[in-house]
Amino acid sequence: MSRIIATAAIKGAYKEVAEAERMLGEAMESAGATTAVEFPNTGYYLPIIYALSGMKVEKVEDMAKALGLAKDLLPPVPREGHWVPYLGHTLDAGIATLFAGEVIEGCKYVTNPPVDDLWLGAADDVIMRERGVEFVDGTAPGFCALTGLASTAEMADKIVVELLEKNLYVWMSGHINGKTISEQLVERERQLGWDTRIVPYGKEMSSAVYSLGFAARAAMSFGGAQPGDFSKVLRYNKNRIFAFVLALDYVDEQKYAYAAGAINYGFPTIANTKIPEILPTGVCTYEHVVSDVAEEEIVQRCVEVRGLKIQIAQIPIPMAYGPAFEGEVIRKDDMYIQFGGNITPAFEYAKMREMDEVTDGKIEVVGPEIDDVEQGTALPLGIVVEVAGRKMQEDFESILERQIHHLINGAEGIWHMGQRDIVWTRISKKAQSKGFKIKHYGEIIRAKLINDFPSIVDKVQVTIYTNEKDVEEWEATARTAYRYRDEKTAGMSDESVDLFYSCTLCQSFAPTHVCVISPERLGLCGAYNWLDGKAAYEIDPTGPNQPVKKGDVADPEKGIWPAINEFVKDKSGNNITDVQMYSMMEDPMTSCGCFEGIVAFLPMCNGVMIVNREYTGMTPCGMAFSTLANSVGGGNQTPGFIGIGKVYVTSKKFISADGGFQRIVWMPKELKETLKEQLQKRCEEMGDPDFLDKIADEEVGVDEDAILPWLEEKGHPALTMDPMLS
Ligand code: SF4
Ligand code: ZN
Repeated sequence: MSRIIATAAIKGAYKEVAEAERMLGEAMESAGATTAVEFPNTGYYLPIIYALSGMKVEKVEDMAKALGLAKDLLPPVPREGHWVPYLGHTLDAGIATLFAGEVIEGCKYVTNPPVDDLWLGAADDVIMRERGVEFVDGTAPGFCALTGLASTAEMADKIVVELLEKNLYVWMSGHINGKTISEQLVERERQLGWDTRIVPYGKEMSSAVYSLGFAARAAMSFGGAQPGDFSKVLRYNKNRIFAFVLALDYVDEQKYAYAAGAINYGFPTIANTKIPEILPTGVCTYEHVVSDVAEEEIVQRCVEVRGLKIQIAQIPIPMAYGPAFEGEVIRKDDMYIQFGGNITPAFEYAKMREMDEVTDGKIEVVGPEIDDVEQGTALPLGIVVEVAGRKMQEDFESILERQIHHLINGAEGIWHMGQRDIVWTRISKKAQSKGFKIKHYGEIIRAKLINDFPSIVDKVQVTIYTNEKDVEEWEATARTAYRYRDEKTAGMSDESVDLFYSCTLCQSFAPTHVCVISPERLGLCGAYNWLDGKAAYEIDPTGPNQPVKKGDVADPEKGIWPAINEFVKDKSGNNITDVQMYSMMEDPMTSCGCFEGIVAFLPMCNGVMIVNREYTGMTPCGMAFSTLANSVGGGNQTPGFIGIGKVYVTSKKFISADGGFQRIVWMPKELKETLKEQLQKRCEEMGDPDFLDKIADEEVGVDEDAILPWLEEKGHPALTMDPMLS
């Protein structure tokens, strides 16, 4: 901890206590010891003193007793060059200051109430109940105790608007050389008062006790804290009321002392001037005092340091938004522009960054916008989402990335399919005519990630590339990341874990679909592996990814677990009762529509073919991918066919109940190329290093009659294996 602030806060506390003593002397003299002291219309006396000590200050003489408590709390002033390495003394000095401040304001109410055209003084209990309940129900997450002076009136206004946009109350106290931010706001013709949430408490710094007294009353009124139960009062505030001190311009010893008081509540101070910081966390959620933050960035920083989670009430797009639009399809004739879908390259990539590397809300389109192109155009697309958060982890990237599909689909007039580098999305003519821009993809993603993942996401910036060069470059980076994520589960086996994870994210499209994700079989979209399921469950324990206890195995070869069947039955609304994890011929897993590839049985070859989404040509099963996809998807079990994530092909559990990897007789050249390294590894594990050369592709043929002789010639093992169809 900084020794300077300890000294400054303690010195400030001494000064404030001395000032309280002086004013109390005056009040004794002019009004007398037995004159009543009260803030208007409150049952909480001087509320900070009452909440923290239980003492009811009713008369002037009671204030002397309260001041006695403050004096008892005053720690020794550290000798020059000495300091103590913990916060305790600073905290005590802070409480002493708050008690002194209440005595000062109490004296004012006795002699000359601190209220005029501008300053409002203490809030009564009616206001406290009415507004305090907003802190409880979340209408207002908390307040900003604003002090000092902005560099210009315009900047003062900007800062306050930004605070209001975050639904915070703005409570003002204190001045700089007689000038106040409240007056700057009046100059800008901003209306002040409880109705506008911009409340000028008082010109002197001691009026900060109205903010902290309000918080103390809220803890007693809504938090069930008994007067005198200081730890409950303070804990309630730390956990329930998102407040902080925003100090503009010079912070003197007296202000330090009040800041120290606020730290006791878990309310940190953020300043735009260079003041000693108290960074280690302890009392506050994160840092205690953060300094030298530019005025332009200070509100964002406050929100971040206090750990405040903001909800974005309205998704800022010109179209309606909601789950009702998720199933909407946009046909070619209705579309204005499209991206991906094998026509152009398109991908989505979420990346974790450090807090200071992300500017929240920054959305940029690099390349042509919708207005730059004609109707019917197909553009390349790269959506790069950069996320920062105090609790963000790299493991969460894929989970956030996989949300994009369902987030974009929520917008009226926008359609989205796929994930990673197999995205396909369209903007309708109607959306275009209402002013929907490519940029709005970023707005949707940012707003929804902030809203839906408050525990891990604090800041989001989105860059959308629509020019070929950038898309290609970024796609390569994204692919490296996809690969890295896929390889993380390598080395784990289904036997080595007790839990599998479910995914029901796709039930908005395919209501009976349940992905059961095991270490050796990832979700069919290819975007969720077992570790992703685990991480997603950590983020949202009631979300679409649930752990499923395997329990006893009924058939280890076929991959049958009664507990898994129970789970799938329940989650599919009793539609799917039996699943074999390792078979495509009997009770295969359901398919939604997001699969990266499809495996199909080829009866003549006694084997299977695999086709990936990118391959548009004919295949030996007599259907191109798109036709095949229509008959396999929708949340049904289709024996003989399964939708898969590409890397499942290289898993030891790949249709292992049906003969496994050696059943593969055909796959498109490009897929073979993409997975080459992993496929080769698998061949070697199997003891057939040349196996890859025995798999036919489109050049050999696209119907069974054409490939069969070729397979025979190569001596493909499938031809002599047990019949697949028993
Ligand atoms: Fe989840 Fe499966 Fe849909 Fe992927 S395909 S999002 S794993 S339900
Ligand atoms: Zn799906």
